Amino acid sequence: MKLKNILLTSMLSTALSMGAQDFKDWPIPVGPISEMSYSSSMTHFCVWSPKAEQAKVNLYHHGTGGLPYESYPLKKAADGTWSTSVKGNLKGVFYTFQVLVNGKWQDETQGIFAKAVGVNGVRAQVMDMRETNPAGWEADQRPALNSFSDVVLYEMHHRDFSVDPESGIRHQGKYLALTEHGTKNRGGLATGIDHLTELGVNHVHILPSYDYGSVDETRLHTPQYNWGYDPVNYNVPEGSYSTNPEDPATRIKEFKQMVMAMHRAGIRVVLDVVYNHVFDANSSAFQRTAPDYFFRHNDDGTLANGSGCGNETASDMPMMRKYMVESVLYWINEYHIDGFRFDLMGIHDLETMNAIREAVNNVDASIFIYGEGWAAATPKLPDTKLAMKAHVAEIPGIAAFGDEMRDGLRGGWSNDKEGAFLIGVPGNEESVKFGIVGAINHPDIDFSKVNYSKEAWAAQPTQMISYVSCHDDMCIADRIKATTEKASKEERVRLQKLAETAVLTSQGVPFIWCGDEVMRDKKGVHNSFNSPDSINTILWKQKSEYQDLFYYMKNLITLRKNHPAFRMGTTDKVIKNLRFLPVKGNNVIAYKLNGEAVGDAWKEIIVVLNSNKKATKVEVPQGEYTVVVRDGQVYESGSMPFKGHSLLVPAQSALIMYK
Ligand code: CA
Repeated sequence: MKLKNILLTSMLSTALSMGAQDFKDWPIPVGPISEMSYSSSMTHFCVWSPKAEQAKVNLYHHGTGGLPYESYPLKKAADGTWSTSVKGNLKGVFYTFQVLVNGKWQDETQGIFAKAVGVNGVRAQVMDMRETNPAGWEADQRPALNSFSDVVLYEMHHRDFSVDPESGIRHQGKYLALTEHGTKNRGGLATGIDHLTELGVNHVHILPSYDYGSVDETRLHTPQYNWGYDPVNYNVPEGSYSTNPEDPATRIKEFKQMVMAMHRAGIRVVLDVVYNHVFDANSSAFQRTAPDYFFRHNDDGTLANGSGCGNETASDMPMMRKYMVESVLYWINEYHIDGFRFDLMGIHDLETMNAIREAVNNVDASIFIYGEGWAAATPKLPDTKLAMKAHVAEIPGIAAFGDEMRDGLRGGWSNDKEGAFLIGVPGNEESVKFGIVGAINHPDIDFSKVNYSKEAWAAQPTQMISYVSCHDDMCIADRIKATTEKASKEERVRLQKLAETAVLTSQGVPFIWCGDEVMRDKKGVHNSFNSPDSINTILWKQKSEYQDLFYYMKNLITLRKNHPAFRMGTTDKVIKNLRFLPVKGNNVIAYKLNGEAVGDAWKEIIVVLNSNKKATKVEVPQGEYTVVVRDGQVYESGSMPFKGHSLLVPAQSALIMYK
């Protein structure tokens, strides 16, 4: 997430009601946060607001509009919560909380931990969550995963993936799109979930799918687009991806149907979580229940803004930390989510990220956690406490995006016209090598020549996400186009294959942006967070047009899965068994993997990345090899022999061979 939704109203807001203050004496409840507990004879309501003078719950017949048909005063407990039990079967009733602070009734709020909400998430609903389980949910299981080194990530936006009519998908732009099998483009090639299994990815990271604020759920007949980095309800699925946002149960049930279909297809589901800021601080549930507590403030009392979106939350505050831990566990337990991608993780503190990892390990240690090891602006907490990329070694079991290789391949994020290794700009080799080893302290890397990090930051290679393209900035096809104005289509495909080879053979965890495998572009739009479908959609006819690229990437994923040498998993193994080979000249990188030492059927593997515009000679250890990748083609069954020590690698391509 990068500066995508700057809410001027929030940024310009003056100091909130109290500004920075001492929250140390605020009590923290011991048990789980539970704002609504339903039984058929009674519903218990509870809201945390230690400094409130009074509190009440308002009951409504509808999710929006009208007046409450009843309001009940809440009673304060020593742990800072206010609660009451209302007799009768309240299933389907909507509710809001209201607290009186400093003599003033705050506006109504659905609460910080609503589990079901009406349209646009303004009122919560009393729900029997068991009734939202689709048939077969109890038997739903997370697909097996032995090691984080086996993870292959695919980042996806619901609309991008299925809104194109040529997708052949019925529920375009919806959760249910990912439950539809047998869908094809006009050329008869698989789209949708079948496309994902064909490609071979095993983790799909869905862009924000909690309830966010920037799409109006009451007018879905008009196409609206947003990435969704503007959280309103952290613990409820977004309504616009459901077939009926007016009915609170529909989005919950359809989200679960999606997860179950993905699990059956062998794919784990990763949620993009954006606890670092909210859509609008003043109207947020955080602010309306416990004013100022959940946000960091500048010295003058205004909201700190490390997110670039008008506010930054305070994970270092005990209740916010508890909230994040419980929210993550809730998605795991209620929705069977398999992984989390933390937006602007650098805003959160290390202690919170470690608390989350520990709590998740208690459920299932194979749940993958990673995040952006940076912030949009300097957060209001000392850097040494923050989960920035440079501190990833202090949060074991959590990975961060490796922008060193990304920008070493395509060029810096601040200038779309700037190219790097891919287009033959010398001096980027060490940055790419940094990504190949997975950001670990490898002796063959000259860290003084790495673009952003002058030392390794990952303790293990699985702590680095290896990528060249994601939702932020130009996608790789656009970036290649922007940096090679005169390149033919064939040349651009060659460069994209070269980039994806670096990603998919890296010792880090590989990550693909949806559609990169079919040369998806965004018409050159750099920040497409609210661009129309015409910019953002994957055009499924391109799967036919770029079949060759698709099969290249599919085959590389298969190669990675079949060969542990490409995913050794630990720093020790990578240092021992990956050696860079000396090369002459620029824009060529060659390395050798000792496959035998890590149980690979291939004893020794040579990988060469050559971005020169001419074939380049590389010296390799003398031997008889079988070539499996050459000049943009994968031949895993291997019928192309090479014998000798002086290898000619074709222009702008990767070469992989083994003995
Ligand atoms: Ca919403």
